[in-house]
Amino acid sequence: MTYGVVDFDRRRLIAACGLATSALLRPARALGGIFGKWDEAVDVIVVGSGAAGLAAAVSAAQNGVQVLLLEKMPDIGGDTLISGGFYGAVDPVRQGAQGIDDSEELFFEQTFRNGDEKADPRLVRVLVKEAGRSLAWLESLGMKFQLTVIEIYGAHWPRCHKPILPAGSGYIQTLSAAAIQKGVDIRTAVKVTRLELEKGRLIGVCAEVDEKICFYRARKGVVIATGGFGQNRQLVEASDPLLRGLTSTSAPGATGEVMLAAAQAGVLLRDMQYIQCLPGCPAGRKHRVRLHNDVARFILVDEQGKRFVREDERRDVLCRKVLALPRKYAYSIVDNDGLESYNILIQKEAWQGIESGDAWKADTLEELAAKIDVPAEALAASVKAYNQAVESKNDAFGKSSRELRFKIQTPPFWACYAGMSVHYTMGGLAINEKAQCLNAENHPVEGLWAAGEVTGGVHGANRLGANGLADAISFGRIAGREAASSQNN
Ligand SMILES: Cc1cc2nc3c(=O)[nH]c(=O)nc-3n(C[C@H](O)[C@H](O)[C@H](O)COP(=O)(O)OP(=O)(O)OC[C@H]3O[C@@H](n4cnc5c(N)ncnc54)[C@H](O)[C@@H]3O)c2cc1C
Repeated sequence: MTYGVVDFDRRRLIAACGLATSALLRPARALGGIFGKWDEAVDVIVVGSGAAGLAAAVSAAQNGVQVLLLEKMPDIGGDTLISGGFYGAVDPVRQGAQGIDDSEELFFEQTFRNGDEKADPRLVRVLVKEAGRSLAWLESLGMKFQLTVIEIYGAHWPRCHKPILPAGSGYIQTLSAAAIQKGVDIRTAVKVTRLELEKGRLIGVCAEVDEKICFYRARKGVVIATGGFGQNRQLVEASDPLLRGLTSTSAPGATGEVMLAAAQAGVLLRDMQYIQCLPGCPAGRKHRVRLHNDVARFILVDEQGKRFVREDERRDVLCRKVLALPRKYAYSIVDNDGLESYNILIQKEAWQGIESGDAWKADTLEELAAKIDVPAEALAASVKAYNQAVESKNDAFGKSSRELRFKIQTPPFWACYAGMSVHYTMGGLAINEKAQCLNAENHPVEGLWAAGEVTGGVHGANRLGANGLADAISFGRIAGREAASSQNN
């Protein structure tokens, strides 16, 4: 049985990206010499050095095999490094101490329902179960999280863990240190361009290294962990034409070429039309300021200075509402307490935004209104009504009383653009519970695993905030373990 699977038109996507089939996939050359055509041979090759790739590499190495990790950028980290770092998991200890009820069943129900039941429920079950185990695994490797959890924007429940180190740096630091300690060979500036097949089985990859082409043989298997395709404008627009011209929050490496190579190798692409946007730079601007991270701390106003949506609305619904505004962007507003509750990198973004003209601060709401060019009385009235809602726990827009916790009252007041920026691509390679890539007949493609944002089917039509990292680490661990224990050699 398949669930909401879309056998996306691979040819159309590949054509949209201007890539020729032959450029993506070549048959293996004849063997000869000690490694034949191969420049090197290892047990497991992992492609991509974000959370999924590093987790896969550590997990494979923990299972006793030789691992080579290839990253195309000069530095490791991908989107994981620049992410907010929030990690969704049921956690009886931290949530219990805060009096928050939670369960894997509730986590499943919220993830599946908020994705419009388009995800594969078997994958969602794995996610909600493994998220907690992966959290404990990260801690066992030395990663530190704060003692309290919050509900970030779009997460719909307070189960988001905040690392001690800012943004996503803790994941990359912890996992790369563990990988190096376990003997994983991490190489940067190696761009995988093709997958090498033999009789339907993945046996290696081809990559550009400096000016050269190198062939790497994988005796046991290849794990694709190359992240999303948010920076590939052609592919984004081919998948969802409404998003034409929008900026992206992703790192420059999120271009999707290995996903397309896998599709050419026969892996099913699913859910490609589901692309998530988040408040970011409006079209044409470059500096992103995130004042919206904690749903209890910010409000959104339109060009009239009025709220128009509950801030804890689903990310896809909120996106459509913002794109329907006359200027196609809104403003996020926080007070100084709100800003100071954010990590140091977000605070720095805000200060830099003042310099670049993407954020504003003022001692009064009237002054702030003048700076962002909205009617002063309307903005003051919006904030006043919101503060009353915090007191009464009853919001006219329906924001959950759970998140009506902080008034906007401490100057200086801050504002930034809340345009819509392509943030997370829910579609990608179809996988099963063991992270094996699946073909159109739902059969595993031998020798090939995938994890993280490059996959489809875990989130459905809309991803819950903080589920991206839990997905990447959990399926990365599974993929690494499964590839390592493969009987192929
Ligand atoms: C600004 C921002 C904030 C976010 N905040 C959160 C958050 O707080 N919580 C949350 O859960 N999620 C968050 N997300 C989403 C989260 O970052 C992703 O879900 C997660 O990082 C994906 O991990 P990954 O390992 O799959 O991909 P990535 O971390 O993107 O890693 C993929 C790597 O593969 C490399 N690669 C790509 N192509 C090739 C190739 N051809 N050859 C070799 N290497 C290649 C890339 O360069 C990259 O380094 C955020 C995303 C962004 C952009």
